[in-house]
Amino acid sequence: MPELPEVESMKLQLAKFLVGHKILGVEIRNPKYEIRKDIIGGKITGIRRFGKVSVIDLDNGYSILTHVKLTGQYIYRGPNLPKPYTLSAKVIGGIPGPHTLVIFKLDHDGVLYYNDVRRFGWIKIVDSGQVIADRFIDKLGPEPFGKPQGKPSLLTLDLFKQILSKTSRPIKIVLMDQTKVGGVGNIYANDALWLAKINPKRKANSVEGKEAKELYEAILTVLREGLKYGGASELAFVTPDGKEGKYQNHTLAYGHEGELCGRCHKAKFIKYFLGGRGTYVCPNCQK
Ligand SMILES: [Zn+2]
Repeated sequence: MPELPEVESMKLQLAKFLVGHKILGVEIRNPKYEIRKDIIGGKITGIRRFGKVSVIDLDNGYSILTHVKLTGQYIYRGPNLPKPYTLSAKVIGGIPGPHTLVIFKLDHDGVLYYNDVRRFGWIKIVDSGQVIADRFIDKLGPEPFGKPQGKPSLLTLDLFKQILSKTSRPIKIVLMDQTKVGGVGNIYANDALWLAKINPKRKANSVEGKEAKELYEAILTVLREGLKYGGASELAFVTPDGKEGKYQNHTLAYGHEGELCGRCHKAKFIKYFLGGRGTYVCPNCQK
């Protein structure tokens, strides 16, 4: 599932491509997506991100909230994207295609396609004044980086230590709990724990002091790396220009089962499932 670097990469491109466009129409090609027509005529003024939720703000008092979940993809075509266009093979069926569920028609011949093979992603329209109170945003934990935008607040080291001290659940599960830390999912949790030399099964409240600081810094480091590479396109993630992110080629622990640890060179990564998610550990480095 896209995590903070992927959704941030998507946000940055949506801001570049969409701001200034007016929405002329919406074609709903799947009945799951009930989109209020109130957005028609609205001019896009900005894009915000809260955890993994993106918000497209309009000048007519409405905002589009969306979460791409596992396989949702936004693809833009129009005057703000130089040609020739590229389209990743991960956009199954092309655009528009059998998995194109919603098409936003924009002025100046712009189009924003929403594709979603698994259809777990969602789109909803709310009054702009209600965005922060929306239940998906209201419950989000503080974010590891970026400017706080009302909610969620910024995850400082002190706040991070407090969050860890309050639970004995495994540290990796806590890092991925969106109500505790916004935006960190499986790939970056694996890599941050490896970077900080912490075993994913450790009780969160046993990670304190220097270790908590190292883990906090490791989270920032891997998220910044993810953002630098435009996110990871392991499953279906693509950026709105139709291209793939590259972080999957630069992971530290994630996906390295059976390979020699790049730091100690003494042990091979093992993989097991923790909370149902693939967990990659160097048995020598991560205590
Ligand atoms: Zn190692």
